[in-house]
Amino acid sequence: MSEDQAVPSEESKLKETIEDKLFLVKYKPDKESHIQVDQVKFKADRIKAVLYICPAKTYELNEETGECMVAFENCLECGTCKVACAEYVKWVYPRGGFGVQYRFG
Ligand code: SF4
Repeated sequence: MSEDQAVPSEESKLKETIEDKLFLVKYKPDKESHIQVDQVKFKADRIKAVLYICPAKTYELNEETGECMVAFENCLECGTCKVACAEYVKWVYPRGGFGVQYRFG
């Protein structure tokens, strides 16, 4: 086995950041978003929790318009936003064959 194919040690795995792990995730993005945000309700929400709860940083505030931008291609399909922000986030699974492609090992 060459050096660039070395299996990471348990210690080095523990030092990986979330960003390191997200870098290893593969996606097959659909052309259309599986996430819709009701912008009127989003703007009316003082807390805007969706900007903070997503582990993939899918949601971002547009400072100029006050709208919520959605990078649906980054979605890990954890379902957190669907539960926590159901009043303005409409989330469904991506169509079959699209979305996050998890690898284990
Ligand atoms: Fe983010 Fe999870 Fe919602 Fe996808 S399902 S957008 S990863 S919170």
